[in-house]
Amino acid sequence: MLQQYRSSQEILSIIYSEYMKEVYEKLEESKDPSIIFVTDLVACTHKYHLRHLFPELTIRFEPAAILGDLVHSGLESILENRGFKTEYPVERKYKVKGKEYVLKGRVDAYNEEKGVVVEIKTSRSTQNLPREHHVYQLQVYLNILNADKGILIYITPDRLLEFYVRKEKIDIKSLIKMVIEDRVHPKWEWECKYCYFHKICPYRVGY
Ligand code: SF4
Repeated sequence: MLQQYRSSQEILSIIYSEYMKEVYEKLEESKDPSIIFVTDLVACTHKYHLRHLFPELTIRFEPAAILGDLVHSGLESILENRGFKTEYPVERKYKVKGKEYVLKGRVDAYNEEKGVVVEIKTSRSTQNLPREHHVYQLQVYLNILNADKGILIYITPDRLLEFYVRKEKIDIKSLIKMVIEDRVHPKWEWECKYCYFHKICPYRVGY
């Protein structure tokens, strides 16, 4: 009997090159200490500092991340047809201790007219949803864009969950200062377990 299949990497190599293109674009920005990402404001502050010293340690090619990206693209293209701008870039300048920093991020979907910001999250588990750092991240975006309503949508293997988040005022400049001064490490008790830098970090706890 003729063999009907053999292994192939044709589509995989397309996925890989698209994924890595984005990774390397972000890697260049992540080497620049004057650029702070929105995600830096809701995470362990030491990650920002280690990232400048060891940027390549942040590169991973994991199926869970690819799956997350594909889910994002799919839902974003649906929302685009419903009046949302997707992968909406957010950029603001802040002066801290006499030096200028650029805070950068990208919201998954934004409807400017209605003042609604949507963040899409994929997860293996449905425990502790909505997660505190996701709510916090969305709050940062609501503050920067001066939008009133946020929506967090979770897509997991066995549940689809959605939450409204109403804007509460956040002092973004003091969060940036906290990152620069490296004051909170880690920020969340689970954080070191999933951290790119846990093998070289002097502050690692728990694992
Ligand atoms: S290992 Fe923990 S303390 Fe160290 S950078 Fe990572 S999250 Fe922060």
